[in-house]
Amino acid sequence: MAETKKTKQPKQGKKSKKEATRWLYPESVNIDYQSVLFSSLDDWFKKINEQLSQAQIPLDFLSSISTLSYLSANFGADAINELAGFFKQVAITNDGFWVKMVKIGTNTDLAPAEVNYAPGDSVIIGGTTGIDVYRSEPWLREMQTTWVQENTQLIKSIPKQHLDDVAKITQQAVDEGWRIEKLRKAIQDRFHIPENRAVLIATDQIGKANSAVSMQRMRDYGIRKYKWRGAMDSRERKEHVDREGEEFDIDHPPEDGPPGYPIRCRCWPEPVWDIAA
Ligand SMILES: [Zn+2]
Repeated sequence: MAETKKTKQPKQGKKSKKEATRWLYPESVNIDYQSVLFSSLDDWFKKINEQLSQAQIPLDFLSSISTLSYLSANFGADAINELAGFFKQVAITNDGFWVKMVKIGTNTDLAPAEVNYAPGDSVIIGGTTGIDVYRSEPWLREMQTTWVQENTQLIKSIPKQHLDDVAKITQQAVDEGWRIEKLRKAIQDRFHIPENRAVLIATDQIGKANSAVSMQRMRDYGIRKYKWRGAMDSRERKEHVDREGEEFDIDHPPEDGPPGYPIRCRCWPEPVWDIAA
């Protein structure tokens, strides 16, 4: 635990200022983002399950040692082909949410980026259409690219993980001689795990974007330090409760990141205005 900055401040008498400057976690954006993620994941999984139930499966399916290669040729390949479109859609969605976060955080209107997806490669963020607001806010372009790419990588891991799981289940089915209906059901039951993961990713990534935008907004105002402020309820982690009121330099956050950055963290930075400067 990094406890390098030790300027503890009394908590009393800070409430009115705290309310006035509070940087809220954008809960409604998180909810929107989750529902968009769900529906694009849902489309992908529906296609996969459809392909599985329509697959012409040989009679000796589970007795044959070639089952896995059959599956990867007939089922896996189609699933992989569907991924390129899915990933591109995810990247466009992420970019849209980035634009929304920047609008909430800085009141800056960003045009959507041109998002391209190179199969087997990463997401490509092209130039923006319309007026280039990045000329006045160059940091936004850098943050947008980083956030959209990191986020898309996380979401891409969901279908990839799912395909790995399907291969494992199939191997088990072969080893244990399951009936095909049992295998189909086992694969379809896996659907709920990525859904939970989508909630986690959405909550985490919106929090990180919010945290990054709030840090940058302070920099724009020439603020160098902030006080750590927490939700001060039973859900807040103990290390963060211990940091309440502690001052941090914007460029030297604690090991787990600035307020709002760690997963499910609802803490926020209270700017320290340096009047003398
Ligand atoms: Zn926290």
